[in-house]
Order: sequence, then C-alpha cells, then structure tokens
Amino acid sequence: MIDGMIDGMRQPNIVLINCDDLGYGDLGCYGSERNDTPTIDRLAAEGMRFTDFYMASPVCSPSRGAMLTGCYPPRIGFGSFDGLPVLFPGQRLGLDTDETTLASMLRDAGYATQHVGKWHCGDQPEFLPTRHGFDRSFGIPYSNDMGRQRMPAGMPNWPKKLAEMGIAIADEYPPLPLLLDDEVFEQQPDQTSLTARFAAESVRFIREHHDRPFFLYLAHIYVHLPIYVQQRFADASRNGAYGAAVASIDWTTDVILTELRRLGLDDDTIVIFTSDNGSRARDEGGSNEPLRGVKGETWDGGLRVPFIVRWPGRVPAGTVCSEVASAIDLLPTFAAVADADLPDRTIDGRDISPVLAGEEGDPDRVFAYYRGNALAAVRRGRWKLHVARGDETVEELYDMVGDVGETTDVAADEPAVVVALSAIADEIRDDLGDDRLGIDGPGRRAAGVVTDPSPLTTYDPDHPYYANEYDLIDRG
Ligand code: MG
Repeated sequence: MIDGMIDGMRQPNIVLINCDDLGYGDLGCYGSERNDTPTIDRLAAEGMRFTDFYMASPVCSPSRGAMLTGCYPPRIGFGSFDGLPVLFPGQRLGLDTDETTLASMLRDAGYATQHVGKWHCGDQPEFLPTRHGFDRSFGIPYSNDMGRQRMPAGMPNWPKKLAEMGIAIADEYPPLPLLLDDEVFEQQPDQTSLTARFAAESVRFIREHHDRPFFLYLAHIYVHLPIYVQQRFADASRNGAYGAAVASIDWTTDVILTELRRLGLDDDTIVIFTSDNGSRARDEGGSNEPLRGVKGETWDGGLRVPFIVRWPGRVPAGTVCSEVASAIDLLPTFAAVADADLPDRTIDGRDISPVLAGEEGDPDRVFAYYRGNALAAVRRGRWKLHVARGDETVEELYDMVGDVGETTDVAADEPAVVVALSAIADEIRDDLGDDRLGIDGPGRRAAGVVTDPSPLTTYDPDHPYYANEYDLIDRG
C-alpha cells in the first residue's frame, strides 16, 4: 500500500476495458506495425505498460471468471464445463453466485457498477452480470460466433456436436441475444454497430455517475471472429477486417477518455486496457509476437496479453513494468485502492497496487498455467517450466527473460531450477488438483448449476431479425 493512495482522496473510478482474443503483438505500443492504435498507445504513454501480464486461461470463460473473482479457474469450478473448454448457449453451468466479483465487491464499497459487452460466465438468468454485482448490463451473454451463422459444409459444426453431447440446443445455435440486464433486448443484432453502441452505453453510464465512484467493465466482442466492422474503419485499415476491428476498439477508447476528460475525471479514474486471451494468430491478421503459441495453448502466446494502466498522478506515466502479474490480481488490487472488503474465502491473486505506484514487485512471484483442470506450466521469476502439453507429460524449461519466444529448452542445463519449479507445481496441484493426473483439488469450489437450463432465445421464422443468419463463415 502506498502512503496517500487512499488518504485524502475519493475512491477512484475504475474503467476496465477487456478485449476478446486481442494478441500480445496487436497494438502499436506492443510492437504492431500492422494495426493503428494511436489512443491505446497514448494510454500507455500516460500510464504503465506491462510486459509480463497473464490472463489465468488461454480461453474466454475461464479467463473472465478468473479475472472477475481473483481466482485460478479451477478454484471457482471454471476449469472445465462438463468437459467443454468454455460455456455454450443453454449450458447448465455458470459463475456461482456465492463468488465475490470485482463488481459485487466494489458495489458493497459504494460504487455504481456497469457491465457492457461480452459476458461468457453463464447465460442462465442466475449467472448473468446483474446477479454478480452489476447494477446494469448491456451486451451479449457469450461469444459473437454463437448465434445463427452460415455453416458451410466441411467446417466443424459445434452446435451439432454439442447437441450430440446433450447440451440443450438444437443442431444450430439459437439467435444471438443482446441483453439489457436480464431481458433479451434484441436477437441477431447488427454486429457492425455493436461496438459503437457499447461506447454509447459506456458514456451514458459515466455521465450518469460522474459524481460518485463508478466501475465500468467494458468487454469488447472483438477481435473474436466473425468480425463485422464499420466501413470507415475498413477503408482505413492496413490489416483487413482484423485491423479495422482493432481500430474500432481504439476509437471506443478515445470516446471514453474524451468523456472522462470532459467531466474532469482524469485524475480520479483508473483506466485499464487488456485482453481475455491471446490471438488465434493464424490467417486472420492477429499477432502474439514475439511470443510463441496461440489462443488455447499454454505457450505464453495463449495467455500473456497487453495490460496497460493509466491513473494520472498515481501510476508513473510512460513506464514499462516487467513484473510477473495476472488478471487474478485485479480483485485484491481494486480492494486496496477502493478501500473495499476482500471476500472471506480463498483467492489466488495479490495486491499489485505497490507495483502500480512504481515499486518493485516480488521477484519470486509464481504464476500457474492451467489449461482446463490440468496444470500445464508454472512460472517463477524468469523461469517457466512446462509440465504437460495436452495429455502428455513434459519437462521443458524456458528462460522467459533471455528467450521470450520459448525456443530453447534449458531443463538439462538448470536441474536445480527444474526441481524447484516441480515442487511448486506439486504444491499447486495439492490445492487445485490436476485432472490429467487424477489428482483431486481440495481447494476447488463448484461452479453454479441450474437443474433445468434452456437457451435464452428460440428461432422463430416470423421474428423480424436484423440478420436472420450472419453471413460470415469465420468462427472463433
Ligand atoms: Mg477470448
């Protein structure tokens, strides 16, 4: 805790901007030469840019649940969803209402709270944002490719596979719902306009609550596929639809920063910019460079993401921080700066407010890479030990300072480091388990379950959908 961070000041507003599948190398300030991100680059110039920041999962639902609760996904029952890597429409599982989220913690501390954009922590009414501390919510309950969308022959038909597994959907996803709080507000909305609508809703919320502490969680639906963008961004893009989607996110950030400045809230507001997991980085225009690996993998490219914090006068401007930190740190960090009460149950994150103030962090900070409910790797300081790849046991050691792209296994050269990190892996497994090895996790809590789940929408051929079926074939 930094002297004066709380004393004599109001609780800071917090704006948390989370992108979907935006990779480590997708922003100008992280080295992209294909995408134009002038506003986000300015955010970094006015704040602190992290080089070694990790989401707690390489895929959507576990990443989001972990960030919201300060816990590794297995801790909150979000390692695996009846054997699936993320939540699907109409599934019976979601974030348990006994968990404390960023929003419920901050609301209890006096904040106005708003969710805008993607959720993906359960689509049943019990699991929606309004049951998790958000006063209000506007957005879609899961990914933007989980609506009715063209399905050319030869592509993996996820809806059909899910139906065969007994997930309560037909052989096609139900119409994509746009929710206002718990109500389906629209079905199959115009995806091209959604980012601008999210910006407008964010501004409305900031304006309405400018005179009290507020927490805005803006979770973009892009750059997750399919990508629909406004023509002006497409025209200006040097990187196809992907670059246009990145530009639309940059523009939204400018809208929010402009509104904060107009209201005189710059110094009272922490603005955070990040992404839920790495880019797919195949042919779509995304990049995790210089990291190895993509979304879904436990090479760093899967879950090491951009993380920028701006808080004028509190977070030193124009700084680059190479401490190991994670999205699970947000909850205890927000508790510190907002003088909020931590949940009275185990969490995994730690307060990094001293790091944000420019102090050194813990050089022995440990980060656990879970993929599903199986431990895949551990990092401590400069060293990362891979212990599993898929179902296979591995023992590979990488120097994340000297070899950021994980190209050279140095396990044979550093036997003492391997032994030390293996012991840490065992300790983590003793608490959170490892399904691959048949190890129970006594520290795990269950996800929320409903007994009679049903999709939020049902296809009706007479309903006036904006898009009866989205025409792009790309899926995330
Ligand atoms: Mg994602």
